Amino acid sequence: MGKQTGFMEYDRKTRRERNPAIRIKDWKDYTEPMPDKEVRIQGARCMSCGVPTCHVGLELNGVTTGCPLNHLIPEWNHLVYEGKWHEALLRAQDKNNFPEFTGIACPAPCEGACVLGINEPPVAIKSVERAIVEKGFEEGWITPNPPKKRTSKKVAVVGSGPAGLAAAAQLNKAGHKVTVFERDDRVGGLLTYGIPEMKLPYEIVERRVNLLQEEGIRFVTNTEVGTDYSVDKLQMDFDATILTGGATVHRNMEVPGSNLKGVHVAMDFLHANTKSLLDSDLEDGQFISATDKDVIVIGGGDTGTDCLATAVRHNCRSLTQFDIYEQKAPTRDESTNPWPQYPIIHRVEYGHKEATSKFGEDPRAFAVMTKKLVGDENGHIKEVHTINVRTRYENGQKLREEIPGTEKVWPADLVLIAIGFQGPDQQLLKQLEIETNSNSTVKASYGDYTTNIEGIFAAGDMRRGQSLIVWAIHEGREAARECDRYLMGASDLP
Ligand SMILES: Cc1cc2nc3c(=O)[nH]c(=O)nc-3n(C[C@H](O)[C@H](O)[C@H](O)COP(=O)(O)OP(=O)(O)OC[C@H]3O[C@@H](n4cnc5c(N)ncnc54)[C@H](O)[C@@H]3O)c2cc1C
Ligand code: SF4
Repeated sequence: MGKQTGFMEYDRKTRRERNPAIRIKDWKDYTEPMPDKEVRIQGARCMSCGVPTCHVGLELNGVTTGCPLNHLIPEWNHLVYEGKWHEALLRAQDKNNFPEFTGIACPAPCEGACVLGINEPPVAIKSVERAIVEKGFEEGWITPNPPKKRTSKKVAVVGSGPAGLAAAAQLNKAGHKVTVFERDDRVGGLLTYGIPEMKLPYEIVERRVNLLQEEGIRFVTNTEVGTDYSVDKLQMDFDATILTGGATVHRNMEVPGSNLKGVHVAMDFLHANTKSLLDSDLEDGQFISATDKDVIVIGGGDTGTDCLATAVRHNCRSLTQFDIYEQKAPTRDESTNPWPQYPIIHRVEYGHKEATSKFGEDPRAFAVMTKKLVGDENGHIKEVHTINVRTRYENGQKLREEIPGTEKVWPADLVLIAIGFQGPDQQLLKQLEIETNSNSTVKASYGDYTTNIEGIFAAGDMRRGQSLIVWAIHEGREAARECDRYLMGASDLP
């Protein structure tokens, strides 16, 4: 695979980022395309591994290892190196209905498991994936491909995130009549209203949704199943249902002052911003503004980073992100997090670079725990009180120790809480009498996806809890196969 000596001749190069100081003035994609020649060189760096671990798709030690879609990575790397872009596209589409979403926003556990990564920077697999699919669109190779034959079966998919879209695409391929219900006004789930525009532009989601529509899938937006469309009607109108409603019920922050004005959960901030941006280029004012505010983002994960990138574009006065964990090392700890596991390391993501370009330093404060939020006489947030903490593990249990003398007060006009998600909305699940796990996700085992109610399947975050696009696509595809088997007695879907 690749060029036999490519890994010794060429360095890793990924898709380039635009200058942070310039890109924060707009909402366009923060990256720019990689020249074909550079993509082919990355393909050439792929080695002839006896056992290519990049595509194993396992969970080792609680972390994703290799590509959960089992992408045929060495094959498409080699084809790209040879300039056979169309063949590479066919391989990429073999395992993934939407390589354009993962090629943009996947954290690339494949690269963490790349054999070259043992002693060199790994192959830039994600950048190659994106280049292949973009070439496919540019060249007009990706066109609607409706099924030749239709069955008489009707399937409802509830929720239009990556799991729902993947399930719908596969079931439509099998010839079933698929309707996707979405309570939001636009299709895409967190692809549309979670991940911000500059990371995953909506036109990319829309381009795919248009293709799916042309292939015969019906999308019904502004319709919440269980409220606007009753569960009785759902069960009467359809032969089977796949639940892919996500897991966006946010985790509450149990500290005094969380209800003050100016304190918002991250998803409210991100959702309203994208909606206003897409509806009116932020002209309608229907969003939570960070302009001229001292902004504190509580939570060190990706959602928090998306808040940073959004707030910086609003031209906030100051910007800080609290991470409760200590700063990680720049390289993996081989004793606790060995190759090929996804490397748990200190990362500088797009939002951190952007905040640094505006304020001159990384916005993160590590090992910081929020103690209370304090308001002014009008009940509006004024200050955040914190203390530094040490986190350690004893018998697998997380223990947190406050460090006396590290108390600090931070001025704040806007606080965004990004400390994770509890699980799925329960309303529809209760109406359908679906059994749930102790963490409130839907009880449906991995690989079979059936719930306790006959003909109802569940996939994506609703089943596994808040996760990744790549897992959502994987589960959507597999649940579709199980649903097809239920409807037809056997399935040819992969
Ligand atoms: C801010 C943010 C940024 C993220 N960034 C990344 C990233 O960069 N890379 C990555 O891999 N992952 C990322 N993730 C995680 C990723 O987006 C999710 O794991 C993935 O979208 C889950 O897909 P899903 O289809 O299961 O659910 P979702 O994408 O959550 O979609 C569920 C959909 O179901 C709809 N719905 C729910 N109930 C009903 C109902 N009763 N009737 C009709 N519709 C309903 C919802 O409105 C929603 O549109 C991010 C998550 C967040 C919150
Ligand atoms: S989907 Fe993610 S893990 Fe799989 S090849 Fe693409 S970037 Fe890698």
